[in-house]
Amino acid sequence: MNILVFNCGSSSLKYQLIDMQSETSLLKGQVEKIGQTVKTHQEAIAIVVDQLKEKPVHGVGHRVVHGGSVFTKPVVINASVLEELQALNFLAPLHNPYNLQGIQAALRTWPKLKQVAVFDTSFHAGLPRRAKYYGLNKEVAEEFKIQKFGFHGPSHNYVSDRASEFLGVTAKDLKIISLHLGNGASACAVEYGKSVETSMGMTPLEGLLMGTRSGDIDPGVIFALAKKYDLDDIENILNKKSGLLGLSGLSNDLRDIQDQAEQGNDDCRLAINAFAHRVRKYIGAYAAVMGGVDLIVFTGGIGENSASMRRRVLQRLDFLGVDFDEDLNNESHDKQVQMISSNRSRTKVLVVKTNEELMIAKETNVMINKAEVSADLVIPIAVSARHLHLDKETFAKLFGEGKEPTKYKDISQPGQYACHEKVNLIGPRGVIKGVRLLGPLRPANQIEISRTDEYKLGVDAPIRDSGKVKDSAPITLEGPAGTVHLKEGLICARRHIHMHPNDANKLNVKDKDVVEIAIKGGPRDLTFGDVLVRVKDSYVLEMHIDTDEANACELNKGMAGDLIYQSVETAKGHFV
Ligand code: AMP
Repeated sequence: MNILVFNCGSSSLKYQLIDMQSETSLLKGQVEKIGQTVKTHQEAIAIVVDQLKEKPVHGVGHRVVHGGSVFTKPVVINASVLEELQALNFLAPLHNPYNLQGIQAALRTWPKLKQVAVFDTSFHAGLPRRAKYYGLNKEVAEEFKIQKFGFHGPSHNYVSDRASEFLGVTAKDLKIISLHLGNGASACAVEYGKSVETSMGMTPLEGLLMGTRSGDIDPGVIFALAKKYDLDDIENILNKKSGLLGLSGLSNDLRDIQDQAEQGNDDCRLAINAFAHRVRKYIGAYAAVMGGVDLIVFTGGIGENSASMRRRVLQRLDFLGVDFDEDLNNESHDKQVQMISSNRSRTKVLVVKTNEELMIAKETNVMINKAEVSADLVIPIAVSARHLHLDKETFAKLFGEGKEPTKYKDISQPGQYACHEKVNLIGPRGVIKGVRLLGPLRPANQIEISRTDEYKLGVDAPIRDSGKVKDSAPITLEGPAGTVHLKEGLICARRHIHMHPNDANKLNVKDKDVVEIAIKGGPRDLTFGDVLVRVKDSYVLEMHIDTDEANACELNKGMAGDLIYQSVETAKGHFV
C-alpha cells in the first residue's frame, strides 16, 4: 500500500510517496514557485505525476492546517467535505485556501482514489475547556467561533510517540513538552498521550516567537497600530514582518541571525534571546499545567539543528530536573532521535526529527481501510455506577483493623465482586453517600465517579485508564471506623472494553488499542470515541461506561455496541 502525501502551500507543493508496509519513503520532493514558473497547483501535480513514473498510488493524504470545530479527526474527502472546507478558509487564510487548491487538483488527477484530509488541529481537539477558551465575552466568542484550536498536531503527535518509544515506554505513560521550533513554532503539553495545552491558538499566530510571526502580544498593540495602519496591514505586520525577521531586521532564518550576532549585531542578539526566552517561559508554564514533566522534545528546523538555541532554552532548568549534556547536544545532527540530557537527568530531553508526512500517511491509511475494519461481533455493555477499590491500609482505617471486605455479589468480570461495605465521599462542595466497595483489595486506591458526581463533590477528576491514579484528584473518604484524606485516587474512568484474546482476534484489535463503538438499538444511537481495549485471559467481553454515558445514549437492556472504527493507534498498536 503506497500513500501519497501532499502539503500544499501558497507557492510550493511538498510531496512524499510512502510505502506503508515498511514505512519508508519511495519518493520525496517539492515543487516550488507555484504562481510563477509553475502556473497553477494543477501544473505542480502534473510534475509530481511525472516523477512517480510507474510507482502505484493507492491513496492520497492531504495536510490541511485548519479543521475548525467541524473536523476533529481525519476525513475521507467528498463533495460535502469540500464545501465545509471552503467555509473554513477564513480561519487560516494563509494556509487553508492553498491546501484546498491542492486537494481539488489532486481530485481531478486521481478521481477514483480515496483521498483523506488530515488536520493540524485534530490532535488538539480534546483540549480541556479551561485551555480551549479565551477569557472573552461568551456571546462574542460563540458568534465568531473564537477558541484555541492549536496547530502542528501531526508533528507533536509524531515526535512525542517517537521519543516515548525511544525511552521504551508509550506516550500514554508520560508528561511531555513537545517543542516544534521551525519557521512556524509551537509548544504542546502532551499529558498521557493527549494534547492538554498548546501555544498556537485560534490561528497559528499565537504563542512562541516565529520566523516572521510575532507570537503572543498584548491585544492593545493592535489598537495602537490601528491609529496608523488598516487591518490588512496589521495582519501583514504581525504575520510576515515580525518575529525573528522583525526583531533582527535582517532575516527569518536563524542561521543568518546567528552569523550576524557573532559579528556583534545587537538586534540579532536580541532576536535570539527573545526567541529562547519565550520557549523557556512556555516550558515553565506547561510543567505547571501538567503538574510536572518527564520528557522535553525538540523538533522542527531550529529544534533539530540549532544546538546553541537548545542550550539557551535549557539553561537553568535544573529546578525541573533537567541535566543537560553539552557533548550529546553537539552530537545530535544525523540521528533520528538523540538524547541530550545526561543519564542522571530526571527529566529526559530528546531531539527528534519530525516526520509529519509519515503521520499523515498513517492516518490516511487508517481512514482508507476503515470500512474493512467492522466485525460482526456484538459487544455487551455494562454501566458502572460510582464505586471504589481500596488498598489494605485504607480499608483498615475506614472499616477497622482486622476487618476484611465481605462479598455481596459477584460482578461480570471473573474474580471481582461487589462488597457490603460502603463509604461516603466528601468533596469541597458536597457529599455522596453510600459508595460501594469492589473487591478484592488492590495495591492502590481508586475511586471512580462520573462527571455529574464531580460537580456534586466540587472536584476536578481527570479521565484515566484504570490503574493510572498517579497525580489524580484528592478526595476524603468516610467509613464507619474513620476518615481518610487521599492525596490522589479519584478519577473518571476512561470508557473501556474488557475482552478475552479470542474476542480480540475476532475484532482484530490488541490490548491498549483505542477504538470507536457505535451503540445501536435505542432511542438515541450514539458513537463513543476514545474507547480503550483491555485484553486478558481472565476477561469476558463487555464494554464499561459510566452512568452519564449510559444516560446520553438512553441505554436499555439488550442494547449492544458495534466496533466500527480503529483509530490510528490501533493500526500499529502503539504508534511508532
Ligand atoms: P522548518 O520550518 O521546520 O523547516 O524550519 C526552518 C528554519 O529552521 C529555518 O528558517 C532556520 O531558521 C532554522 N534552521 C535550519 N537549520 C538550522 C541550523 N543548522 N541552525 C540554526 N537554524 C536552523
